[in-house]
Amino acid sequence: MKVPLLDLKAQYKTLKKELDEALIRTAESQYFILGPEVEKLEKNVCDYLKCSHAVGVSSGTDALLIALMAIDIQPGDEVIIPDYSFFATAGVVSRLNAIPVFCDIDLKTYNIDAAKLEKRLTKKTKAIIPVHLYGQSADMEKILAIAGKYNLKVIEDGAQAIGSQYKDGKYAGTIGDIGCFSFFPSKNLGCFGDGGMVTTNDDSLFEKLKILRVHGSKPKYYHKIIGGNFRLDAIQSAVLNVKLPYLDSWSEKRRANASLYTELFVKSGLSSGPGETKYGKDKVLLPEAVYKNDNLKNYHIFNQFIIRVKERDELRAFLSQKEIGTEIYYPVPFHKQECFNEVNSGMNYEKDEFRNSDIASAETIALPIYPELSDDQIIYVVESVKEFYSKWEIP
Ligand SMILES: *Cc1c(COP(=O)(O)O)cnc(C)c1O
Repeated sequence: MKVPLLDLKAQYKTLKKELDEALIRTAESQYFILGPEVEKLEKNVCDYLKCSHAVGVSSGTDALLIALMAIDIQPGDEVIIPDYSFFATAGVVSRLNAIPVFCDIDLKTYNIDAAKLEKRLTKKTKAIIPVHLYGQSADMEKILAIAGKYNLKVIEDGAQAIGSQYKDGKYAGTIGDIGCFSFFPSKNLGCFGDGGMVTTNDDSLFEKLKILRVHGSKPKYYHKIIGGNFRLDAIQSAVLNVKLPYLDSWSEKRRANASLYTELFVKSGLSSGPGETKYGKDKVLLPEAVYKNDNLKNYHIFNQFIIRVKERDELRAFLSQKEIGTEIYYPVPFHKQECFNEVNSGMNYEKDEFRNSDIASAETIALPIYPELSDDQIIYVVESVKEFYSKWEIP
């Protein structure tokens, strides 16, 4: 049985007629950049996320960059980010000649460990970028408390988390000062290329984001500030306007898949249950996740389903022979990236400061979780992992 990591064609098939119509409509309009489709998407995203403002931008990376520009991050400013995320979270900080300061993560959720944040604060700290990694909201209550106490801005990296909720039904990306989203095709809501969105409940940040998106001009050709070309295409917005109404049903399907994985891993004897962080008798450590939205805990939308195993690379090779697609997110944590050697040399990181992100980089593997996956495929994946361990134990 073939189980790809992601099957975009399966989703396209279900919406082909609507999507093709949207593409042709855009071609006939010959209106390509910003304009009515983008405005419609911005309104739809505001309604969906229950926030005041949304600004369509060129990618998730540009969403983060424009957000940092909007809060006026200057050269030499420090921005605290988790040590373990997609590169863009760190890259945008350095591109403004600011300093990315890395913070260790929590192994139950793979999100920034808010308990270790305060230790990383200095007089130069200006902002925190919590990442809602793999589709699960970071611990925003603790993060906002620290930000409030030290007057820091909070930019949420929700690239993997559109539709994910924190406590009381609040959507990830609408809790801090600015939320950043990506519509890269492999995200839960993906377009036909690059695209992104920033959200905010602050009227003056909203104005600034809109001006920064078009080179900082207002009115046209008059520049009080310097922005960039961060514009979203009409064609991507048209695709997203078709897809957005289906997002919740896809998230529910991803959660059902995660729930089935969890049940099967426990039944197989490989795991004692989700949220375990020590191996003991467990061969497979499952992420902590709540599958029912009880308004008190996170609503995880499973952009990725991540398991932790000691024999990661061997398991990956075995699953590949079984035609099961997997990926390693992320094999190198930021503190070990060569491009940050210089910036890190100026920091007083302790020897085991990044204990957990080192473990996550060495031991985690992503299994297929996309909505169109069948139960049989999930059963086959778990059976294959079980088979690997029955072989592995024979010396
Ligand atoms: C995908 C992603 C981004 C960047 O989004 P792009 O649209 O690819 O530029 C940023 N942060 C995280 C955590 C991501 O997963």
